[in-house]
Amino acid sequence: MSFKTLPCGLVVAVIGRCCRELCPNAAEFCVTLESAHAWSYKHAGYCGECIEELFLSPEDYSKCVGSWINNGAGPGVFNRELYEIRPLTDAEAAEVAYEQAAPSRWEAEGRIGVYRRIVAFDIPETVEGVRVGTEAARCVVEVYNGLSPAHRQRFGGLGVHQQCQLAEQLVALESARPGFGRVRVPQHHAAEQLAALESASAE
Ligand SMILES: [Zn+2]
Repeated sequence: MSFKTLPCGLVVAVIGRCCRELCPNAAEFCVTLESAHAWSYKHAGYCGECIEELFLSPEDYSKCVGSWINNGAGPGVFNRELYEIRPLTDAEAAEVAYEQAAPSRWEAEGRIGVYRRIVAFDIPETVEGVRVGTEAARCVVEVYNGLSPAHRQRFGGLGVHQQCQLAEQLVALESARPGFGRVRVPQHHAAEQLAALESASAE
């Protein structure tokens, strides 16, 4: 499952969903770690239903511990007393709502939106007959985001196969540069990317 840390610091699952695996509901509550026990995130978004099911009262939690219920309260359920659980603030709720609207933004973007969906859900898709993996989609999105509107149009006009191949080459070039992380194309290197794009298109 893929998670995202929103600008407000809240961690949510893909498109603003509840952090419980495969839960399709939007995040409605913020759970904050208050205990010293291991927990992946400082502030995690959950929906109301999952809060009820996962964060048990101390009495219910102690009933689960050592029993067969919920696998003996292994990592599956939590003692509510150890966590601060509160509704999202307006600012957090606005960011979740923005994430929830991502599919309609992707829809409006056409093919590049499909790549964004592949990256967000971390699930390969067939795009216009070509199987596109998450790594290729990530490269296309990185390159696309670094281009000017005019070159976005040009890059966007390539066939899916060529587009993925070129994007992966450009990202590989960028990652070969010392001092830069893998799969990251900084805006200020757009000019060099464009030169590579031009020569690749001319072939
Ligand atoms: Zn949920």
